[in-house]
Parts: sequence; C-alpha cells; structure tokens
Amino acid sequence: MSKIGVVVAGRTISEIHQAVVASRKELFMPESGRLTNLEWLLENRVQLILGVQLDIVDDRDSSVAGVHAAYNYAEKVVRIRESVMRKIRIDEPEARFTVCHEIGHICLHSNPDFFRQVLPNHLPKKICDPEWQADFFAVDFQVDRELLKQYDDPIKAAHYFQVPIWEMQLYFAQLKAQGVLASGAMTQADKCYEAAIQEGFEF
Ligand SMILES: [Zn+2]
Repeated sequence: MSKIGVVVAGRTISEIHQAVVASRKELFMPESGRLTNLEWLLENRVQLILGVQLDIVDDRDSSVAGVHAAYNYAEKVVRIRESVMRKIRIDEPEARFTVCHEIGHICLHSNPDFFRQVLPNHLPKKICDPEWQADFFAVDFQVDRELLKQYDDPIKAAHYFQVPIWEMQLYFAQLKAQGVLASGAMTQADKCYEAAIQEGFEF
C-alpha cells in the first residue's frame, strides 16, 4: 500500500534480509527452496503465529480502494482483495508479490511508534521508506539465495521463483549495488543496475 510521506527507521538490505530469515524461521518455513502455497501460509501461519487477522474483502470495499491489499497496524488486520486471493491460488506473480509485501509490513512495521508524518513534498529517503522496505522484503522472502546463484538471468529467476520480472530485475540490481552478488556470477545484474539508475532509482 502506498504511504507517501511516511518514514520509518532506516534499514539496509542486509537488515531486511536478516528480518526475512527470522520471519521464515518464526513461520516454520523451510530454510531453502521455493516458496509455495501462499494461501496456506497466510491462513495457517501468518494468522496463527503472527496473530494478524486475514480479511478477504470484496474488490469494491473502501478499505482496499486503489490498492490490492492493505495492512492496518492498529487493528492487526491484513485486508486482501478477493480477486488477488483468486490469483494467489494460481500463483500469479503480481498477486504473490502483493501478499509478500504485506507480510513485509507485518514483520518490519508492527510498531506504529516508528511512524511519523513528514511534509508532503518531503519524501523519505529510500531506506526510510516503508514501501521500499516492504518491496525488498517481498522478493527476498520468496527467493532462495543459494538457488538464485544458479541464475545469471533475472527473467529466468523471476519465472522460477514466480516473482514479477521488474521486481526481480530491481532485486538483482540492489544486490549487485551492495556487493552481495559475486562478480561474474550474475552478469545480467550490471544491466539491471544501469537500467534502474536510468529509471531514476537511487541506491
Ligand atoms: Zn505497502
């Protein structure tokens, strides 16, 4: 969910990765492999272990106006459009990304005290932007980094891990920018990095 003008405590990609590792452990997910059956994970692990209520709402419901899903920190409720849940059942990448983005908010931003408003024309720095944090979490949560090393093409990796292509390309670029990817292991990451810079993305 877009929250322009809201800042949170800054987090680096390695801090977000640590949060992903901790969340996967807390949710009793396997340490390696591809993430499957997100609906089951939401119903049986996110609800029961994280104590966040799952509310599947009609697409016309005002609580999801203009967004695919939304996490309400105060109520501890994640609301997801009915159409998104239908797409989750067929592993549609955008829908999977949406749900994992909301899990990111749940795991990273459960403390409302972290939030404060800033002036509308004063956007938060990338690492302090809760939307960037949840986006990075969403890809990292679905990816097995050991398996990812076998891929030098983000498009093939996106298909395998069922992540939207653009999000996987940006993920490659960010790992490359941080020196997380071994040079030569993923040569395509350089191109992604340059493309992301041209798109105006700041690292
Ligand atoms: Zn969001």
